[in-house]
Amino acid sequence: MNIHEYQAKQLLKSYGAPVAEGRVVLRAEEAKRAAGELDGPIWVVKAQIHAGGRGKGRFKEPEAGGKGGVRICRSVEEAAEEAERMLGRTLVTEQTGPAGRTVNRVYIEEGAEIAREFYLSLLVDRKTSRISFVVSTEGGMDIEQVAHDTPERIATFGVDPATGLSGFHGAKVAAALGLYDLDRAAAAQGRQQRSAKQCVRLVESLYRAFVDKDAELLEINPLILTAGGDLRVLDAKMRFDANALYRHPDILALRDESEEDPKELAASKFDLNYIALDGEIGCMVNGAGLAMATMDIIKLYGGEPANFLDVGGGATKEKVTEAFKIITSDPKVKGILVNIFGGIMRCDIIAEGIIAAVREVGLKVPLVVRLEGTNVELGRKILAESGLNVIAADDLADAAKKIVKAVKG
Ligand code: GDP
Ligand code: MN
Repeated sequence: MNIHEYQAKQLLKSYGAPVAEGRVVLRAEEAKRAAGELDGPIWVVKAQIHAGGRGKGRFKEPEAGGKGGVRICRSVEEAAEEAERMLGRTLVTEQTGPAGRTVNRVYIEEGAEIAREFYLSLLVDRKTSRISFVVSTEGGMDIEQVAHDTPERIATFGVDPATGLSGFHGAKVAAALGLYDLDRAAAAQGRQQRSAKQCVRLVESLYRAFVDKDAELLEINPLILTAGGDLRVLDAKMRFDANALYRHPDILALRDESEEDPKELAASKFDLNYIALDGEIGCMVNGAGLAMATMDIIKLYGGEPANFLDVGGGATKEKVTEAFKIITSDPKVKGILVNIFGGIMRCDIIAEGIIAAVREVGLKVPLVVRLEGTNVELGRKILAESGLNVIAADDLADAAKKIVKAVKG
C-alpha cells in the first residue's frame, strides 16, 4: 500500500527526520489560510498523487496553468492561486500513464533554497533478505536512469538483521554522499556545517520507521542540503507490506482508495487475490498455482489474460459472485474462463455463484467453464439447467482452446 508524500513526511517527522512545515489542502477555499500559516519567502505547492515525476509532469486542462505538479511560489496569494489551479485537475507524469491522475489534494510547504540534491532509499532486498540502502549523489533525477547511465554513482549495502543498524551505516551513507568533504569545505570558509552528523541521525530515524511500520520501500528523492547547510527531506515516498497492515491501523488509516485500481480495491474488500492485466480473457480460478497455469495456457493458445484471480480455497457463493462482477466490470474483457479444481472448494458452490452473478450483472461475453473435483456432477448439472449460455470444457487445454476461439472468432 502506498501513501501520499505529505503523509510520509508526517510519519518521518514523528521519527525525528528533518521535514519542512506544511499543510495539506483538499478544497481551494482552504488554500489561502493554509499558505498563510507558513513562513516564506518561498512556498512550494505540490500535487499529491501516488505517482512520481510530478515536477516534470503536465496537466491535461489548460486552466491548470501549463506547469507541472510542483510549483515554487513567492507569496501566500500566489501559492493559493497555484493550489486552486491544480485541485480537481488531471496530472500526467511518466508514472501515471496517459490517462493521468486527478489531483484531489495539494500540499503547501515552506520552500527551501537548495545547495545539493541527493538520492536515498531503503528497500527490502529479496536476494539477500535484508533491508538495503541505495544512495546516490545524483538526486532529483530518475534513479533508474542514473543506474543505467552512471552506475558508479550509486552505492548500495544491506543491514545484517542479526546485529541491526549502527552508526557505521549512517557514516557509510554520509561518506557515499560526500558529506564529510562538504562539511570540511564549509569549515574552511568559516561556516559551521554538520550535515554528516545529521545524516547519521537521519539514517537511524529512517531505519526505525521502516522496521516499525513494516515498510517495503522508503524513497527520498531528493534529500537536499539547504543553502544554510542542513539536510532536509524534500520528497518522500513510502510503501507498506500489505500483509502486515493488520498490525498497523495507523498506517491503514492513511489509505487513499481513490488512488487505487477500483477493481483491485473491490477485490481486496472481499479478500480476493486479484491483479488487473492488459489482455482480453478474464480468469476466475482457485489456487494461485492453478491461476498461473491457466494464464500460461491461455497464452500458449494465443490469448492474453485480462487478470490474475485466485478466489481461494474456501470461497463462498458471495465471493464468487463478487469475483465475477469484478471481471465483467473490465471493458477489456471479451471472454471469461472459469477454471476450478474442487478440492476444499465445491464445484456446486462455484456454479451457484456464477449463476447469481450473471443474474445480477448479465453476461455479454462468452463464458467457458471447466469444473473438476468435489461435487463436479452437481456443479455441471446446476449450470446445464440454468439456461445460461455456458461453454463446458473437459480439461485445461480444451478450456483454453475454447475461450481463445470464442474471443478471436
Ligand atoms: P517529483 O517530481 O514528483 O519527484 O517531486 P519532488 O518533490 O521531488 O520535486 C521535484 C523537484 O522540484 C525537486 O527535485 C526540486 O528540484 C524542486 N523542488 C521541490 N521542492 C522545492 C523547494 O522547496 N525549493 C526548491 N528550490 N525546489 C524545490
Ligand atoms: Mn521526487
